[in-house]
This record gives sequence, C-alpha cells and structure tokens, in this order.
Amino acid sequence: VKTILLVLDGLGDRPQLQLNGKTPLEAAYTPNLDALCQRAETGIMIPWRQGIPMGTEAAHFLLLGYDMSDFPGRGIVNALSRGFHLMEDAVYLATSWAWVEERDGLFICERWTKDLSRSEIQSLSSVLPGFIEDFHFNWEYSVGPHGILTLTGDRVSHSISDSDPFYEASYVMEVEAFDTDTIEAKATAEALNHYLRKCYQVLKDHPINKERIQFSKQPANFLLTKWAGKNITLPNFESMHGMTSCIIGSSLLLYGLARLLEMDYISCENFGEGIKKALQVKADFVLLHTKEPDEAAHTKNPDNKVHALEEIDKKLAPLLEQKDLLLIVTGDHTTPSSGSMIHSGEPVPIMFVGENVRVDSIKEFGERSCTQGSIRMQGADLMPMVLNFTDRALFYNFRPGSRKIGFIPSNIKKLL
Ligand SMILES: [Zn+2]
Repeated sequence: VKTILLVLDGLGDRPQLQLNGKTPLEAAYTPNLDALCQRAETGIMIPWRQGIPMGTEAAHFLLLGYDMSDFPGRGIVNALSRGFHLMEDAVYLATSWAWVEERDGLFICERWTKDLSRSEIQSLSSVLPGFIEDFHFNWEYSVGPHGILTLTGDRVSHSISDSDPFYEASYVMEVEAFDTDTIEAKATAEALNHYLRKCYQVLKDHPINKERIQFSKQPANFLLTKWAGKNITLPNFESMHGMTSCIIGSSLLLYGLARLLEMDYISCENFGEGIKKALQVKADFVLLHTKEPDEAAHTKNPDNKVHALEEIDKKLAPLLEQKDLLLIVTGDHTTPSSGSMIHSGEPVPIMFVGENVRVDSIKEFGERSCTQGSIRMQGADLMPMVLNFTDRALFYNFRPGSRKIGFIPSNIKKLL
C-alpha cells in the first residue's frame, strides 16, 4: 500500500478576531478536506513538544522519523538545497545581505536589503575577506539576498550562535560559542566576529553601496549569519523505514531535505500538478508539500490563509477516489496569521484515511474539531504509525539483522 503524506505548511493557526474567533482552517470552505475527514481517524499532533515553535526543516526531520539530536542544522539543509556537495569537516552558515547603521552598535535597518541585483551581489561579495587567522571563509550566492558561508580550518566548530537577530528592530549580535565552551567553538566565534567586522569595513564604503545610497536605495553593508551546521552522515530514509520514497514540492528547503535523507525529489509548478504526480509516482512513501498556507499566514492577514486553504481544497478531489492508499493530511507547525510570532507552538490537526484506520466521528477538518478525534501524537510517532497502518511494522524487539529497525525487512541474511 502506498502512503501519501500531504503536508500543508504552517497549517495550524490561532483564533482570529477577523474570522469571528475561528481559525483560517475552521473558517475556510473546504468540502474535500471535510469529506476526507468523514472517512478518517483524526486527532492532533504535537510537532515536537508542546509550546515549541518549529521551523519547517526540523519539523519535517521529525515527521520523517529522525531524532532531533541528529539534526545537522538548517545551514546544512540550505547548502544541500542549493546543490552544494558538502565537505566533511566544513561548517555551513546561512547568510543575508543586510543594511545596518552605527547607532551604539550596528542597528539593523533592513535584514534583507531590497532590490539587490545579482551583479551587485557579485561585486560586493568579491571584496569579502578570505581568511581570518587559520580560518578560511568562502561565500557563495544562493537565492534573493541570501547566500551560504562555508568555514573551514583545523579549529572550526558549528557550535556557534547567530549574528542575525531574526526578529525586527534589533542589532547585529556578537557570535558566541553555543551550548559549549570548547576552545574550537570559542575560536570559531571569535574568528567569525572578526570576519563580520572586516566585512562591514569593506562594504560600508563600497562604490556600489555609495551609488545605491545616492539613488535612495538600501545599501547592503552587512552580512548577517545564522544556522551554523556541520555535515553528518545519517542513515537514509529507505534504510530507516524500508520504503522507497519521494518528496514532491516547490520549495528549495524540501529539496535540501530530500538530498539530506536521500529521498527522490520531484519539483512541481503548482499544487494541482503535485497531486497528480503524487498519485502517479512509483514510491512506497510520498511526501507532498505545499507552502501556500504558511506563506499566506506570514502576510498576517487571516483572509489570505482562508483563501489559500480553499484553493488547496479545490485540488483535492482526485484523492477522494483513491483506493489502496494511506493518506495523511496535516501541517508541520502552526503559523499564526496575526500577532508578532513567526511560528508558534500549538499542536496541528491530523487525519489518516485508509483501510486499517479506526474511523471516528469527526466531520470537519479543523484545529478544534480534531481535538475530539481519537489520536494524540507527536511528530516522531508518524513513521511508526505509517508502518503499522500499512502492515510493515516489525514486532517489537524482534531482531532480524545487525541493527535495530522498525519495519519488516524484505531481505534477510541467510545462514549458509
Ligand atoms: Zn513549515
């Protein structure tokens, strides 16, 4: 039996005044989601732990059956998503071109400098320093105002904090050793601070920035850094779960995740095409991802999210006709469409449709309706549940080979 996990990114939300106290999902007209819900076992899922706002990449890492302690950092997922072939001992950071002003520290006027052309970025990046002591720095373009900074050197460590303050109206932060006091982490943090100061010195008077200021454009006089990550070797998805797999989506981040876990990736133009491909593709496990609900929520207008969900619902009709399919619909985290939070830590609704599920009495797919359903789970429970519903789950503590697995293996080592 094939499994399709449909992740509506940032699906969960909070009650919205503008929607008479309903969430966007509750307020949206979603006849197809509701029809699926009536055939489903429903409930709520805590992406990781109660109250913890999760990023897309970490939430998906858990959903796909990996342990948070093995998460290599978003810098790695970003680097993979831009097609990098990762070096063994390098540290990768996500960067953004920013506009800062000296006001008792470096005040951030704009975290992502607007209207910065590719050729301007090219010129600016060519003056960045390459070395600080025995640390080597290499900056490469990725997308928009973003790039990847690669650090190498004998003493390099990924246990360092972010210089990007992430939230609005703030200052560039000093990079510090993070959650550790090793000499390597301290030395890396110090070298990176030194590098960032040097970057600012060469960028602030760069002709391109002078010209931009002259034409009332935002200068790009700082390189903000975050999400340091180090390449680690993880067991791939198939060896973890005994299923062939494919991610279908239109987001670079998901492509990076597919590369990290050695899952196939199919890029799709729009969600309707994604549904079609999810049904066509030959894989035991398909993750179909759409980022529209999350993006709509980030506009901080609940009506936009209602609209995004209604548009998604219109494309779901083909799923209602399927047999021999385990279909799961959920979100990776909550993205409130009002207020100051980027993501928030509430659970998300989830439903399972398929032959072996214990259909419950819930008729509408929504955050509060699904709390009346039968399932209480965490993101990490998803893959064991998939294996169970599709009759692949291994009897606990049975040992068919040299390592602990959760699925019935298709190959065994014969005694000869
Ligand atoms: Zn997300």
